[in-house]
Amino acid sequence: MTYLAKKLKQLMCDFDNTIGLPKKFDVFVKSIKDNQKLIIKSKDGYQCDACHNISKNLKTSIKSGLLHGRCPYCKKELEIKTNRIRHYILIDRFAILETFQNYTILRLFEVKTWYDHGNYRTLECEYGRKIFDNCMNCTEIYNDNVISTITGKFVQQNYFLNGNWKKNGSYYNTLDDILLLYPHNLNVVLKGTPWQYSQLKKYAKHFGYIDIEHFLRRCSDSTEMLIKAGLFNLAKDVMSYHGCYLSDKDYKIVQKHLKFIKKYNLDSEDIYILKFLNEENLPLIKKYKNCCYDISERIPENICVDLKEIDKRILNIEGNFTEYADYLRICQLLSYNMKDKNILYPEDAISAHDRVVNLYEVMKNKENQKKIKKRYNQIKNTTFSDDQFIIFPVKKVEELIDESKQQNNCVKTYASSIASGKCDIYFMRYVACPDKSLVTVEVKNHRVVQQRTKNNRDTTEEQKRFLKEWETSILKA
Ligand SMILES: [Zn+2]
Repeated sequence: MTYLAKKLKQLMCDFDNTIGLPKKFDVFVKSIKDNQKLIIKSKDGYQCDACHNISKNLKTSIKSGLLHGRCPYCKKELEIKTNRIRHYILIDRFAILETFQNYTILRLFEVKTWYDHGNYRTLECEYGRKIFDNCMNCTEIYNDNVISTITGKFVQQNYFLNGNWKKNGSYYNTLDDILLLYPHNLNVVLKGTPWQYSQLKKYAKHFGYIDIEHFLRRCSDSTEMLIKAGLFNLAKDVMSYHGCYLSDKDYKIVQKHLKFIKKYNLDSEDIYILKFLNEENLPLIKKYKNCCYDISERIPENICVDLKEIDKRILNIEGNFTEYADYLRICQLLSYNMKDKNILYPEDAISAHDRVVNLYEVMKNKENQKKIKKRYNQIKNTTFSDDQFIIFPVKKVEELIDESKQQNNCVKTYASSIASGKCDIYFMRYVACPDKSLVTVEVKNHRVVQQRTKNNRDTTEEQKRFLKEWETSILKA
């Protein structure tokens, strides 16, 4: 718990003196209160405590793990409990959105009903505020209606309103995100703000409980259009951080194809594919739907792919789209002309993929070759010999391959490490037969870090002595 900065304290003081509660506050709280009733099940049937009618049969459903039913008389959807229940608590939380000075403020309220032997008693209180500045930086504050413990924050209905604000300093125990939204002031409050046309009111009415802060941060021209068209789940999908390929900029696609999207109830992946087709072709959309990941993650952004062309020109594209995406990526690494249709749309995805992978490996080898040669020239004066042994650095990739073969080790895979300067490889041999492998040596930071004879065996005492001398007198010097 942290006490409030003076500036924030003054802001809240001014806010309370100016704004007050909205006009229909009582009406809204009553509507929540009226829904905080139970349907009591007994052998006589289901008694609705909202309208006091008894019905024999009810349509039931599970919501948030609790049994609910819709009363056929008052049409309210309420929790169902058996007549053995004595005590029960029903809670709803809602937010009132306000703008004040340069801040956007969410006032958090709780409505709580205690059921006690057939009697209902309800209290409501304001317990917290989320204050956003122009850049949507959020400060959370709570008052004496909140008890803060190690395990979390709990609302207690001590006062209806309370101005003893404390700053919520904890990252983990944030105040509620998912809330009902007070609807009656929204048209006025949002006027002139970035959210004037966001359709927040419609969205909140559809879902009931929503993440208001998330909506304020993530809504866009696309979501505005989707909500207007009644595509609420799709709008929610587009606003989510995970698993959605559509970006805020894609609203033009949504706008252009709205009727089509609505008619076939397309999801965000369908629309993402539609973007690359730019044609209302449902079979092709469904065919390429599972390629979203390859298109968004594997194909470089600056390559314009046309799915229609791909479908027409590449014969075995189905099931091989990942290889095709890799093919494009490698083509770009090879500096191919990515506007050439013959490169963009090869006849056969797999053979085109294998061809460029091979080319790329050869190219990489050539690069390594150059760098290894350069490195050799830098360190060739570390070559050293006595009567018996000689040691010299690797000069070519082929030497590594040959050493690997003779010694039965994996030194050939060190080419890119040598090229990038991570280590040096030396060959130690008998002066009498310098072409025959004896010891493979790895050097890092002027020190021998590995010395291996054939089949990765350790060196002899004699060999060790030679390497030690070389290390001390040449490498470290
Ligand atoms: Zn009823």
